Amino acid sequence: MQDRPIESAVLELKFQIDRIPDQRRATEDSFSVVLSADAFDDGSLRGEPLQVEGTISRHGTEVNVFSRVDYALDQVCVRCLEIFCTRGTVREYAHFLHRKQGGETYPEHEQYGDNGQVDLVPWIRELVLTDLPEYPLCSEDCPGLCPVCGENLRKGACRCPVG
Ligand SMILES: [Zn+2]
Ligand SMILES: [Zn+2]
Repeated sequence: MQDRPIESAVLELKFQIDRIPDQRRATEDSFSVVLSADAFDDGSLRGEPLQVEGTISRHGTEVNVFSRVDYALDQVCVRCLEIFCTRGTVREYAHFLHRKQGGETYPEHEQYGDNGQVDLVPWIRELVLTDLPEYPLCSEDCPGLCPVCGENLRKGACRCPVG
């Protein structure tokens, strides 16, 4: 089941508040989707579709989400500038509060608006972005580029005189 067709990837991960089970009456809902990296329309993330699994429930208008995200994304090595694939898994909880018009804002929480739609995509984008290494390296011992001729030393020594 690893090789799912890419066509099955979705671009949205939105939940309508009145369709989310209320903890006081029911248990949580679980979801499992393959989220296309194209869902992040700012182009900040490229690579294989993300595997997103989780649970969602609410208590009144407060929505509780747990997600586990598996990613395999393209990154540029800071030393040799080659594109390589970084894999990782993030697990996180979030609490989405309803944003009341003209009311209080809650900077420490995720929020959703008057349309009653909880969109998980921006939150998942942040999760993955903060999980990615700040200084990506294609390998721990990547030798990088020659400071003189700029050749990629990973592909072998350049012709510059040593020393
Ligand atoms: Zn490198
Ligand atoms: Zn050189």
